[in-house]
Amino acid sequence: MTLSLSCRCGASRIIASGMPVMRAYCHSQACRDLFGGAATTMTTWRRGDVEVPAGARPLATYKHTNHNTERHFCATCGDVLFAVDALGFRLIPGATLAHASHGSLPERFAPTMHVNYAQRQFDIADNLPKYLERPGGPLHDSLRAVARVVRQPEIPLSMQQVRSA
Ligand SMILES: [Zn+2]
Ligand SMILES: [Zn+2]
Repeated sequence: MTLSLSCRCGASRIIASGMPVMRAYCHSQACRDLFGGAATTMTTWRRGDVEVPAGARPLATYKHTNHNTERHFCATCGDVLFAVDALGFRLIPGATLAHASHGSLPERFAPTMHVNYAQRQFDIADNLPKYLERPGGPLHDSLRAVARVVRQPEIPLSMQQVRSA
């Protein structure tokens, strides 16, 4: 399968071939630095399976020296088309894949696990495996985390009324 993916403004394009080797929510600090979200919906592809097609405009790149990662983005709109992780894999964010599918992430690219869960900024209550670091490594005991008693934030009265409306 070959996918043509473009950024929001349409000036930049990449081609992805085959299927990703991993689909995950990543909670790493490296992904926060690369993609800007607290957790990232992303797909991991082999090095040769993601490329800028011949004739397309070259992408702007930024190298994160502290994580040994690289961001490849559109110089016009700033959308990240893909990133390169420390192992050389190509990471295509879910947002880029969703953009090519009328805004929703196709089921074949939906995350099947959480990775780098030890670096998370909040707990997740779903049934997917939660690897503390890499897939296949030690898992997080998610039941205990979900049951943990947390202090409820104070919610202004006006918002409570909106909620119950
Ligand atoms: Zn663009
Ligand atoms: Zn990550």
